[in-house]
Amino acid sequence: MNDYSNDLIDDEDESQVFDTAPARLTVDLGAIVENWKTMRALSGGARTAAVLKADAYGLGIEDVGEALYAAGAQDFFVAVPEEGATLREFAPDARIFVLSGMWPGTEALFFSYDLVPVLASEEQIAFFTSVVPGPYPCALQVDTGFNRLGLTPEEAIAFAGDASRPANIEPVLVLSHLACGDDPASPMNVEQLARFSQVANAFEGIEASLSASAGIFLGSDYHFDLTRPGIALYGGDSQVGTSKRLRPVATAEARIVQIRSARAGETVSYGATTTLSRDSRLAIVAAGYADGYHRALSGSGTPLRGAVEQGGYGFVAGHRVPIAGRITMDMTIFDVTDVPERTIRAGDYIELIGPNMPLDEAAAAAGTIGYEMLTSLGLRYTRRYTQPD
Ligand SMILES: *Cc1c(COP(=O)(O)O)cnc(C)c1O
Repeated sequence: MNDYSNDLIDDEDESQVFDTAPARLTVDLGAIVENWKTMRALSGGARTAAVLKADAYGLGIEDVGEALYAAGAQDFFVAVPEEGATLREFAPDARIFVLSGMWPGTEALFFSYDLVPVLASEEQIAFFTSVVPGPYPCALQVDTGFNRLGLTPEEAIAFAGDASRPANIEPVLVLSHLACGDDPASPMNVEQLARFSQVANAFEGIEASLSASAGIFLGSDYHFDLTRPGIALYGGDSQVGTSKRLRPVATAEARIVQIRSARAGETVSYGATTTLSRDSRLAIVAAGYADGYHRALSGSGTPLRGAVEQGGYGFVAGHRVPIAGRITMDMTIFDVTDVPERTIRAGDYIELIGPNMPLDEAAAAAGTIGYEMLTSLGLRYTRRYTQPD
């Protein structure tokens, strides 16, 4: 996927490019497949879809889709029809649901690539029935408390009982989304479950789906016919600590451009917000906030991060190394004073996210969530996909 380099070089040179890239991203497709199987096992009797929106959470819808399809996934969710069209090539006979629904001007994409819109309002339903050429599948989204997308439960139940509705609308799935699945103790979960169960009962014979990753961990009451894990496939937490049951997927690394010595009392980076308390060695790496290494991760000087005291860490030569001062657009400075001098040098890589620097820990240090870290990584990393065994 790295459009900067891969178009210009042939395969033979690809590994050399990866070995010297300023910033690089390894995506472990085998881990994604294993995580999907773990979520499938946890989903009990329900079928398990895969959510690939936002370019598979930033990791590449083509490679991720192909690997999951080969592993047996048959149901996919994407955000927009363009993503569905891209995925179709890699998942020829799968069902591909489009979460944003069908809008005027997009219908041709749906028909050409056999995509199933998730309809979320009476206007969308009316548009759908006015353009589909004959009976055509759709999913219906019902809002049970999130206040994002969906028919009200009352509208949905009325629709289910409406014998006079147009014959060309063929709902194959009714779905809803939990607001607080990340918190098993939240009363919202049982409330939404109760509302959704009423709706699902009204749609007898039509499949029902309530749970994303977090809901799957809430137990079998929440599973219905189809589950929709996203973040869990990519190794991230949906509830605190759930990623420990999953394999890390993404490893982001940045190359050390220079290691410099600095004296106690000197300051580091923009704003001079860090003053060194000892003579230090600093490693400057080639990734910054333009690579999704959020400025809020900075070692200091980001008032927006209010609640999080510590900055982030990288990992190199067996050591966790703190970020020193503000992260800049293309560069980040790590304090490597505690790493023995002969064990690192310019050209080595510091792990930003990966098995030694868990995604959710890095995200927490930035005052955000793993979802946002992954989808922010962007296209400047040279990418390598490792295939399932
Ligand atoms: C994003 C999304 C999912 C997947 O959520 P995760 O928390 O990443 O598992 C499932 N369903 C809907 C409607 C979504 O928007």
